[in-house]
Amino acid sequence: SRSEITYFGAGPALLPTEVLEDAAKALINYQDTGLGIAEHSHRSQLATDIINKAKADLASCLDVPEDYEILFMHGGGTGEFSATAYNFAGAWVANKQKELGLDSTKPEDVQKLKEVVNKDLKLDYLVTGGWSQKASAEAERLFGAEHVNIVADSRKENGGKFGSIPDESSWNLSKDAALVYYCANETVDGVEFPAFPKALEPGPDGKGPIVIADMSSNILTQKIPVKNFSAIFFGAQKNLGPTGITVVILKKSFLPPVTSQPSPALMRKLGLPIPPIILQYETIAKNNSLYNTLSIFDVYIIGQVLQRMLKTYPDKVAGQQAVTDKKAQLVYDAIEAYPDVYRVIPAKATRSRVNVCFRVSKGDDVDAAEKAFLAQGTAQGLTGLKGHRSLGGIRASLYNSVPLEGAEKLAKFIRDFATS
Ligand code: PMP
Repeated sequence: SRSEITYFGAGPALLPTEVLEDAAKALINYQDTGLGIAEHSHRSQLATDIINKAKADLASCLDVPEDYEILFMHGGGTGEFSATAYNFAGAWVANKQKELGLDSTKPEDVQKLKEVVNKDLKLDYLVTGGWSQKASAEAERLFGAEHVNIVADSRKENGGKFGSIPDESSWNLSKDAALVYYCANETVDGVEFPAFPKALEPGPDGKGPIVIADMSSNILTQKIPVKNFSAIFFGAQKNLGPTGITVVILKKSFLPPVTSQPSPALMRKLGLPIPPIILQYETIAKNNSLYNTLSIFDVYIIGQVLQRMLKTYPDKVAGQQAVTDKKAQLVYDAIEAYPDVYRVIPAKATRSRVNVCFRVSKGDDVDAAEKAFLAQGTAQGLTGLKGHRSLGGIRASLYNSVPLEGAEKLAKFIRDFATS
């Protein structure tokens, strides 16, 4: 039964049982309206209230400053690979046109802008694992390799494999990039940025590069300096809610009236792509995330999870961070106590607190040892531990709904298995 297992899957992930119990009732009859939450119109006041409350609670949990907008979108983290490239390339073009005082109705000005775009439009990517690699590949697919700059690729220092973050001194940042993109936690490879990169910090004037981060797997597990980012995005399905909603925290200066996306006609003349309307941030922002039919049920669950976090931790995400760090410490300590049996895959300095990736061996036979580890773990109610197919081994995902006791059980099992 549900109470007998702890699930360590990488996503979708566990949700708090009491949230699901309330949600089950809300699906049938929401707030005594006689209608379930998934049946109410997304245009109703009730839906707007759910959206606005979830936005306010997320802003509260993460200390999101006033000059940021929160968007609820569909399309997953993968949709945001495309959306970030489209929207920030568009913003770069709009700002370049303004800076150079070029008039899009004059053919000679458009020609001048096209030359600047061809020469200088760069989307910068830090490639530190499978997900940032996919994001950079999508930018290349949409804009062409000539507009994509790989700032660093950790495979170069690991014999073709991910598992570390190259030293900042080796990063090759573009001068005026439309965005600098990184994945804060690589879910598959178990690599996490230990802090906001120094090389991307704003200067004393508050100005810095346009930094975008994918926080799909570590959002709400630690405090983050939101003001250093132009956008942060994350799928809800690991630490926040069910699959189906992607959240974007976006600096308002990338929205009208400060920045408006260039007209489709101008982008076509420049040879650049325009986003599908549902991936255009200004459209979603203008409509408070209701340009089209949003899954209000999913936003409702997100809201319930946030409410629970605010009640559990008076110091908000800092409280959750302390528990996350403790869970990771318990599991890594158990693994490291038996170096003859276990090996953590990524480098220690950048190993993830939420996706613990390791190999098991007893004698020479890694395969048999890992099979035995998984089978014995499952027998004890420790499930979802199989590593990603690209990496093999074991992956324990310690997202927010995995309780401290779950990590304690796992740590004990890791120790028992090693000595059995
Ligand atoms: N980024 C990261 C860090 C992820 O872990 C995932 C999915 N596990 C994605 C992006 C892709 O998200 P989605 O499946 O929602 O498109």
